[in-house]
Amino acid sequence: MAVAQNIRCSHCGAPVEFKPGEIIATCEYCGFTTVIETGKPFKFKHSLLLNKFDETQIKEPIMNWMRSGFLKPPDLAKKSKTLEKNLLYLPFWIVSVEAKTSYKGIFERIAPPIVKEGKIQKEYNWLVLGREAAGFPTREYDVPLGGKIPYDFRKIESFAKVLNSEIDRAEALELAKQQIEAHHRYLLQQEVDKIVEMFTEINVKQAVYLHAPVWFVKYEYKGKTYQLIIDGATGMALKGDIPASKF
Ligand SMILES: [Zn+2]
Repeated sequence: MAVAQNIRCSHCGAPVEFKPGEIIATCEYCGFTTVIETGKPFKFKHSLLLNKFDETQIKEPIMNWMRSGFLKPPDLAKKSKTLEKNLLYLPFWIVSVEAKTSYKGIFERIAPPIVKEGKIQKEYNWLVLGREAAGFPTREYDVPLGGKIPYDFRKIESFAKVLNSEIDRAEALELAKQQIEAHHRYLLQQEVDKIVEMFTEINVKQAVYLHAPVWFVKYEYKGKTYQLIIDGATGMALKGDIPASKF
């Protein structure tokens, strides 16, 4: 287990705890955000999505998830027991970009094959998770961006935990570029069978640092433990382990 270290918040003087690997820390007393390495204030936009559930209210989305869908054992909601429910504010970078890929490839689904050229042009609010989080489905997470407000430490519940980012803005932009390029390469499979040339141009419009509320739930069913991840802003299940049911 890594030992946490302290720096002083340059705004209010309170100790700000961080762990090795974390590079941006938010003060839990005043919400001021500091870049750990330099000790300087974080100068980009920091936003927050609000959590809508307390520890009792979160039972409802958990139950709803257990009761819905065919793949689940019919007695799942009745027979399972919630072992843990932890609210974490996960750090994300939302990179707003225009991405343009020009390509040349060979379309082989007709005879004779033809050379095809074209462009894929899209806009994204591309999400990069600021750290490793056990099995968090970043690509499937449709961030409810409409609800974001400027970061406000007073809205963070006392039972919740705010995680710091382990990557900085430049690293987040680089990751977003790589992931978008890979995504476009994937999309191109529909257009051509062989890619001859591909060039992606990415124009970054904005990058926002965002903390989003995510509930990590552990439940027990027939002696085994499973995980369920719920979006605290909407109550939607983002990912859930389903016990195998025998028919
Ligand atoms: Zn502070």
